[in-house]
Formats: sequence, structure tokens, C-alpha cells
Amino acid sequence: MTREMTSSFLLVTFAICTLIIAVGPSELLRIGAIDVDGHFTFKPSDLASVSSDFGMLKSPEEPLAVLHPSSAEDVARLIRTAYGSATAFPVSARGHGHSINGQASTGRNGVVVEMSHRNIRTPEPLVEPEEMYVDVWGGELWVDVLKKTLEHGLAPKSWTDYLYLSVGGTLSNAGISGQAFHHGPQISNVLELDVVTGRGEVMRCSEEENTRLFHGVLGGLGQFGIITRARISLEPAPQRVRWIRVLYSSFEVFTEDQEYLISMHGQSKFDYVEGFVIVDEGLVNNWRSSFFSPRNPVKISSVSSNGSVLYCLEITKNYHESESDTVDLEVEILMKELNFIPTSVFTTDLQYVDFLDRVHKAELKLRSKNLWEVPHPWLNLFVPKSRISDFDKGVFKGILGNKTSGPILIYPMNKDKWDERSSAVTPDEEVFYLVALLRSALSDGEETQKLEYLKDQNRRILEFCEQAKINVKQYLPHHATQEEWVDHYGDRWDQFRSMKAEFDPRHILATGQKIFQNPSLALFPPSPSSSSASW
Ligand code: FAD
Repeated sequence: MTREMTSSFLLVTFAICTLIIAVGPSELLRIGAIDVDGHFTFKPSDLASVSSDFGMLKSPEEPLAVLHPSSAEDVARLIRTAYGSATAFPVSARGHGHSINGQASTGRNGVVVEMSHRNIRTPEPLVEPEEMYVDVWGGELWVDVLKKTLEHGLAPKSWTDYLYLSVGGTLSNAGISGQAFHHGPQISNVLELDVVTGRGEVMRCSEEENTRLFHGVLGGLGQFGIITRARISLEPAPQRVRWIRVLYSSFEVFTEDQEYLISMHGQSKFDYVEGFVIVDEGLVNNWRSSFFSPRNPVKISSVSSNGSVLYCLEITKNYHESESDTVDLEVEILMKELNFIPTSVFTTDLQYVDFLDRVHKAELKLRSKNLWEVPHPWLNLFVPKSRISDFDKGVFKGILGNKTSGPILIYPMNKDKWDERSSAVTPDEEVFYLVALLRSALSDGEETQKLEYLKDQNRRILEFCEQAKINVKQYLPHHATQEEWVDHYGDRWDQFRSMKAEFDPRHILATGQKIFQNPSLALFPPSPSSSSASW
């Protein structure tokens, strides 16, 4: 073939591709080829509402349509159509849209499946008190799971700090909070899933059945299937929580205490271990600080560190009302082993449900000041224990200067509570820390609060880790190139890729994660041998 022939061939191919891409899915939808019990919507306001997320970092890209499913079969019908069409088109589940970097979006040629839509009937949570589990729809919000299980005096064991997140959304990542050191992340507390794969099959999976898919989907960033039902393990719900914060000026002493606390097992231990860094007057300014009562600032000033970094350990002890006589003593005994600044103890006591739902209170406050719907250039990193002190020196005491623009969480977890067979990626050490830089950008704030400044700071933090050879792994990862994804998964990449080929061969699902090539580039329909037996 001459060079001219080659280029005209490429041009024609490109034109055909463009034509198919432009009309493929929209044609299919317009002719009502997809029959569902829920409904599709094409209304501009609905398309707009799913085209942005909590991060607000990208210009919104509206999808072709939004599906409000009322069953797994609705999701399966859509995916089967996407899978079987000449140009496979993207389908992304959207939980509650709390991603930062467009992970639940599809771009202009796709269909977003709104899993958490309030105005459509989806299966109700079903609690099995004898068996201590609850079956929930994949789009259920954790706050609603809690309400339902509490009716039976039960509750899930492992949480996120914020409950207005969807079950499918957190299980696609990991779902972590201060209980993870003991119970593992939320993905370690799932007994069974129903998943609609990228071929449109509805598959039940668990430790006993379709095991590969079960572990792959947990922490799988939505790459292998849409979770339509999850069976979550429960425990008797505590009634009250003693919530304590203490301060440290030494990072070494702070982390030593945190690591000691997460090494404790058995009955006598704290139930939740977190912590945060205070590099400026963050105690007062950060949105998670609603804990401190108006009476406390006096105390805070008494432990002022003259501008240097402080660290706050946050711990809780759960108890039943019948134990209220003994909880003080138990907490006192546990705290005796810790080495915080003696004058810096802040204690409060509240209902279990109020503790779990604490961030929502902060949300309401920020919303009232128009400070919730602002860009959030968050960066979440898992840092190996062996290098956390280098991270402190380089980042908390270095790159951050003395301005933060939001809470910086830091707490350790035990790797043995994470199932190695799940798709979640963590550092290769027995103990690793979550460092969550949860910043909000303000367009009219100081230079250090501007979006570009904070994004650049994130870039510098990642660059610092790379140069210092601190093998961090991103949590809620966001990578720009496939090379970076390969690096993220390390020696698990081949397995991840082969699961993709098995369960989503046309790269239809969760394309907003930008891990695999876009399906619109897949010119040809799947061969009959690779299609599923069920359709
Ligand atoms: P979305 O952002 O809508 O979706 C996330 C990804 O999962 C997308 O790729 C999407 O396609 C996929 N997905 C969604 N639903 C499904 C499904 N049913 N099946 C398969 N794939 C699906 N995380 C923690 O671990 N701990 C915390 O304490 C914590 N606190 C947070 C506090 C706030 C205020 C916010 C905004 C986020 C917090 N997160 C926390 C992060 C949260 O876990 C992620 O945002 C996560 O993506 C869940 O959000 P979502 O349910 O809105 O999912």
C-alpha cells in the first residue's frame, strides 16, 4: 500500500469511527431499544446533575443519558446493549458522586447509572438478625444502612468518616475509617455480592462462589462489574461513644502511641483510632473540628506550640448504657499507656449514631456558608510505616508551609486486616498510614487557598515521595497515564488486566477511572465465542 493509500484508508476509517461513535448509543437509546423498569432520562438538568462531582476539578462533561435503575436486571439490560452494540459505549455507575476526579463519569458518549437516586424504588435493606448481616442495594447510602440495622440493635462494623456515600462506591475503593485497624476496611466485611459484569451478566459471588470476581470487585474501582447488592456483616450496635482527643508536639511520640493502640486486640482496647495534623490554626478552622466546644479554645491556647506542627490523636471507646459506671475507669487505664501533652485532653460523650454521622453536621455548617460546593483537590495516600517520619519532615513540616486549607488526617492500619485477594492496593508493609489531605479551594481566598496552588502542592508532595523513594500508594487513586496505573498495581497489574479481559472485555465500565482504553475505540463487536452464554 502506498503512503497516500494508507492515509486515505486511515481517513476513511476515522470518518466511519466518528460516525458510529456519534450515532451509535444515542440511536439505540432513542429507539427505546432498552426496556427497563426504572427509567432513562435525557433532561438537560439530569444530565448536568451527574456530570460533576464533589471534587469540582474538571469541566463537566454531560453523558448521553442517565439510567435510574430499579433492579439489577435494569442495569444488566443497559450493559448488554452497550456490550452488544457495534461501538461499545461507556456505562458508569454513580454512587453519590463523591469522587474527586470524575471517576463516576462517562464522557459524552456514555450512560451514567444513578445508583443512589432517591425518587425511584430500589430494593429495601433486608436485615437478617439471626445471621447478623444486611442485604443492601448497591446504591444505598451508608447512613440509610445504619438507620435500618439499628432498628434491630445491629450495625455494620467498619465505616467511613462520612455516611452519605454509597455502598457500591466505597466498596469499589475500600471504605476506611478509625475502625479499620481492628475490623479491616469495609471491603473486609462483605459476605456476598450481586454484580452485573461488563458482559451484562448478573453474577452472585462470595468466598464460595465466583471467588475471583468477588475479590476482584472489592476495591476494583468499578472495573469488573456494577455492584447491585452487597451482604454486609453486622455486630451488636454500641449505644454510646466516649470520644477523646489529645495533642502531641512530637511526631515520633504521636505515631508510637498510634501504633501501640492499633496493635491491641481483645476486649480492652479503643474502638476507633484516627488522628490529624495541625500545621496552622487548623483546630479552629478545619471542618472536622466541631468536636471542640466553645469552652475549649482556652485549653487549646494553653498547648500552643509557637507555630510548630501539632498532632492530634483521636480515639473512642464504645459502650452500652449499662456500662456507664465502668467506662471512665476503662478509658483511664487505657490512656495511662499514652504519652500525650498532659494538659491537652478533650473529651465528649455522645450517642453512637451521632458519632458515626459527625461529618454530616460539619457538612451542614459548611453548606450554610456556601463552603461545601467548592473545588476539593484532595490527595489520599497510603504511606508505609517505615517512612512515615520522612513524610512528616518533608511534607507536614516542609511542603505544607504553615497553611493547610482543610483537615489532614493521619492514622495507621494493620495490613493483615486487608484481604490480599481484593483489588485494593496498599504498601508492602505490615503497618501503613492513611494520610488524607482534604483541602477546599477558595477562589476569593489567600493565594495558598487557591485551586492552582493546592494542585501544585499535591504535585510537589507526589514528586517528593518519588524522589525520596517513599513507596506511597494513592487511595481513591487518580493517575493520568496507563504507565502510572501499571506502577500503581505493581506485580498485580497482569492479574488486574486479565480480570478486565474476562469480565469487561469491551472496556465499558467505569471509564472515568481512565485505567483502560476507551470503548469507543473498540471498532468491532465481540466475537460470538467471547459473548456470554446468558444472552
Ligand atoms: P462515586 O463517587 O459515585 O463512585 C466512585 C467510583 O465507584 C466510580 O468509579 C463509580 O463508577 C464506582 N461505583 C459507584 N457505585 C458503584 C457500584 N454500585 N458498583 C460498582 N462501581 C460503582 N472514603 C473512605 O474510605 N473513608 C472516608 O472516611 C471517606 N470520607 C469521605 C468524606 C467525604 C466528605 C467525601 C466527599 C468522600 C469521602 N470518602 C471516604 C471517599 C469515598 O469513599 C469516595 O468518594 C467513594 O468514591 C464513594 O463515593 P460515592 O458513593 O459517591 O461513589
